[in-house]
Amino acid sequence: MALALSSLIALMLAVSFPFVSFSVGGIGNRIELSQTATTLIGFDQPLVAIAVILTIVVLPAVYLLGVIWLQTGLMRNDPLPKSRAIARSLSHLHPWMMADVFIIGALVSLIKVAGMAEIELGISFWAFCLFALLLLFTTQSLDADWMWFSLAGEPLAPKGSRTGETAASQGLAGCATCGLVNRLDHGQCRRCGERLHPRLPHSLQRTWALLATATLLYVPANLYPIMTTTSLGQSTPSTIVGGVVELIQMGSWPIAVVIFVASVIVPVGKLVALAWLCLVVNRSDELNALTRTRLYRLTEFIGRWSMVDVFVVAILVALIRAGALMSITPGPAALAFGGVVITTMLAAMTFDPRLIWDPPLPKPQRRDNGRPHETARQGAHG
Ligand SMILES: [Zn+2]
Repeated sequence: MALALSSLIALMLAVSFPFVSFSVGGIGNRIELSQTATTLIGFDQPLVAIAVILTIVVLPAVYLLGVIWLQTGLMRNDPLPKSRAIARSLSHLHPWMMADVFIIGALVSLIKVAGMAEIELGISFWAFCLFALLLLFTTQSLDADWMWFSLAGEPLAPKGSRTGETAASQGLAGCATCGLVNRLDHGQCRRCGERLHPRLPHSLQRTWALLATATLLYVPANLYPIMTTTSLGQSTPSTIVGGVVELIQMGSWPIAVVIFVASVIVPVGKLVALAWLCLVVNRSDELNALTRTRLYRLTEFIGRWSMVDVFVVAILVALIRAGALMSITPGPAALAFGGVVITTMLAAMTFDPRLIWDPPLPKPQRRDNGRPHETARQGAHG
């Protein structure tokens, strides 16, 4: 409760003061946090603007208000109305909050322009750093097991459930949100009300479709410029990889590595890893299942960090506005790349990791080979 309240206060401070200002040759510009999104609307990039404002301000605020609502009820020992629905939505909101990624984006942008112009950090910048840190502490200290136990108790396992056998074979399933073991015929979790599936419906088809979308979007994301820099009347568009090369030429090795990892290695690695998991999932063997699950968790964890480059564009476009002297405009690749990040995140969510642990599907050849063998044995018995 204390962390969520202070985090919300820090967020309010972060949106009400100047974020950062820059000046070059006497011409300057000072921006507020919200302008990182609103400026993009002016450059016909409303979708990128919505993604930025949702992930750094709106969704974290909704999450924190949800936590405060839940904790208020729990501290009075009488949960407030809609507590179960709110608690359920917290776990769905969690991966879409990107305040920490935005901080990295802000640092990258500031280092990028530090050599060319004078930069001054505003109160809001420090408030936002504090907010990102407190938000991290809030999510870390929220104990989902304890919360569900306090909200709705700990119902016993369904009657007749046996250990040592898989849940699916007994018509049981663990709830993906609160972890409670349920009988599948209820359709919903007895404790949190989340819908239950033995395996996510059409998991592999949906994951493949999203991976195909992400792969297609990755092409314009790399071919088109992600931003255009105008300096002394001369415009130079730069692509994602071009930006990395520029950074190396400027001597900013660490920043070049951050952008290269976030914009190239992570998305491509994610696409390859998820595609491989989808391909081999029906041929699983026990030995590999643990490694595959770890790989899946890694792809799920790192996905959101690719947003760094989108945030860099949002910040630079809002900040660097001194007309022909020096200005930065967004390119079409920003939308395409944002699309790659979101579709790969969705692809990781639609992939059902329980499939990794399912026994392999019998291959048609094996069945054909088996039949004559079986009949021959039966014949011998006869
Ligand atoms: Zn549940």
